Amino acid sequence: MRFVDEAEIILTSGRGGRGCSSFRREKYVAKGGPNGGDGGHGGAIILRADHTLGSLLDFRHQKEIRAQKGESGMGSNKHGKNGASVTVHLPVGTLVRDAGTDELLADLVSEDEGIVFLKGGLGGRGNARFANATNRTPTFCQPGEEGETLRVRFELKMMADVGLLGFPNAGKSTLISRISAATPKIADYPFTTLVPNLGVVSWGDDRTFVVADIPGLIEGASDGAGLGIQFLKHVERTRLLLHLVDPVDGRDPVEKYQVLRSELTKFDADLAKRTERVVVTKMDVTEAREDFEDVCRRFKEIGIEPWGISAATGDGINELVRRTGKLVQALREEEDQ
Ligand code: GDP
Ligand code: MG
Repeated sequence: MRFVDEAEIILTSGRGGRGCSSFRREKYVAKGGPNGGDGGHGGAIILRADHTLGSLLDFRHQKEIRAQKGESGMGSNKHGKNGASVTVHLPVGTLVRDAGTDELLADLVSEDEGIVFLKGGLGGRGNARFANATNRTPTFCQPGEEGETLRVRFELKMMADVGLLGFPNAGKSTLISRISAATPKIADYPFTTLVPNLGVVSWGDDRTFVVADIPGLIEGASDGAGLGIQFLKHVERTRLLLHLVDPVDGRDPVEKYQVLRSELTKFDADLAKRTERVVVTKMDVTEAREDFEDVCRRFKEIGIEPWGISAATGDGINELVRRTGKLVQALREEEDQ
């Protein structure tokens, strides 16, 4: 399942610092030799692909990134300081386009040292550079070169990292709305009337993962009943499955879990081998809390330790996000090796 995350931003490299016009002060000499130093170079805009990033969420509130200007040159042949460059960290796979013309300018296919995307302006030369045999006391110096500025669009095709499994009413949509920081655009999705719920979840300092609902998975899905099978095709690349179980709909949670597992295995044995965690939802309901210990004990018999959450009160939600984020991170790193 692919989603497009986009962000538009203005990038500006630093302009060069002015060259300086000045002269040595000497006793009895009106004008000593020229000693104006050069301006510093402006900072560059560097783009760098970073596999720890999963979305363009960081750019949602950022409209502009500027590198630092070079400082002006000074007397006594002192160079101005160079402006600091700015490295923009982008998820691996980000396309960079000219926002005006749509032209593709960069494709950050793999993690690397970073590319200089916009060069900083050169520092202007100071008057000391212009002294020659015919003009020993030039007053001329150069201004710094302008930096470059460009409005770009970052585009990222994302895969869902986490697929939510569960019977209807298990609480999948509610969980996504509770934990999402943003909703990316859905592209290349063939089932327009059945667009799944999805969200970008932010966790840790600047990390994200994408979670997608897999709606409509019901008993018999692998025989073609229901819509589940179509959706399942699109989560084949997810790294982690969260299997949500409603403990208060009158059906036995462990049995329900097993029914869905067997559908999943029938559909795609490979998908069924994906890392999975079981999440018991609706823990704010008294009955759910009362039964939780017993439900856990029974899941434990089949080697599972469920997490308990309530999307209604937020109980266990931070913990779920953190654990899921860490797992996704670990699975991404495993894939990188
Ligand atoms: P989905 O079909 O799996 O997407 O389930 P929904 O998110 O639509 O939720 C189904 C029903 O369960 C809705 O009426 C929700 O309000 C309710 N629900 C979801 N999460 C919770 C929860 O944490 N506590 C309670 N009490 N109800 C919830
Ligand atoms: Mg739903």
